[in-house]
Amino acid sequence: MRNIIGNSIDGREIFLHSNFPYHGVPGPDETGTGTLLIGGTHGDERATVSILENFIVSHLDSGTVRTPLAVLPLHNPDGYAADSRYNGRGVDLNRNFPHHWSRDSDEPPGIGPLSEPETRAIHAYILSRRPAKIISLHWALAEIDADGPQSTALAVKMWETLSPEERKPYRLRVHRPEVMPAGICPGSMGQWCGNGLVYPDGSRPAMVTLELPYHAHIRDRPERLPEDHLDRVRELWRTRPQAYLAGVEGPVVRMLETACRFPNAWPHHSPGPG
Ligand SMILES: [Zn+2]
Repeated sequence: MRNIIGNSIDGREIFLHSNFPYHGVPGPDETGTGTLLIGGTHGDERATVSILENFIVSHLDSGTVRTPLAVLPLHNPDGYAADSRYNGRGVDLNRNFPHHWSRDSDEPPGIGPLSEPETRAIHAYILSRRPAKIISLHWALAEIDADGPQSTALAVKMWETLSPEERKPYRLRVHRPEVMPAGICPGSMGQWCGNGLVYPDGSRPAMVTLELPYHAHIRDRPERLPEDHLDRVRELWRTRPQAYLAGVEGPVVRMLETACRFPNAWPHHSPGPG
């Protein structure tokens, strides 16, 4: 099923595909099995959109995923049209969510939390359907990033899905209590869903940011990424998108399949961080 959950600044529709009926009415998934996949929050991170569009055909339309699954392949259609990181008025949607939002952000965060319609659309969707697991795809820090302690088990499970060889392009980053999360990506989706959001029943979603590699070949992720890693992956995408997908998509799809199957069993009513 394809639903429109909102419109962009420039009036483009924001589509959400799901294997359950969604008509904008609240229908919280209380079972811990519902999954939401998000791509294209940054409009110039184009492989995230292609991979999720392919996933819709191969896994959602085909009926192979049996747990509740919603896929929002393109969160930022204006940015995608302009090949820009930002939305139609120059805001970074991944700094516009309502947890540790900061006007002094490293990227333009908007005039306040939830100032942008694209952010409000997904915010409202998450509050109404309460997905137990949220995976957001980005370019190209090459890591599997768990936000909040309740997200560690899911991120580890995704990591374990990969063979030792397939893990090489990635780094696994799980919650460390000694790290103050407030300063990292203020107002990001990971901040809000991983650290700020508590559903009415006291549960928290598992939130994983899946940062895709910046190259198409299996090789070790260096501790320090090259300065031009984003330029590299954009150039690769311009010239040889199929080569990039051939190298990256298979392991990503298996991680997403694993996430769909994974029951988020983080104990309800547990105190979260701060
Ligand atoms: Zn991004």
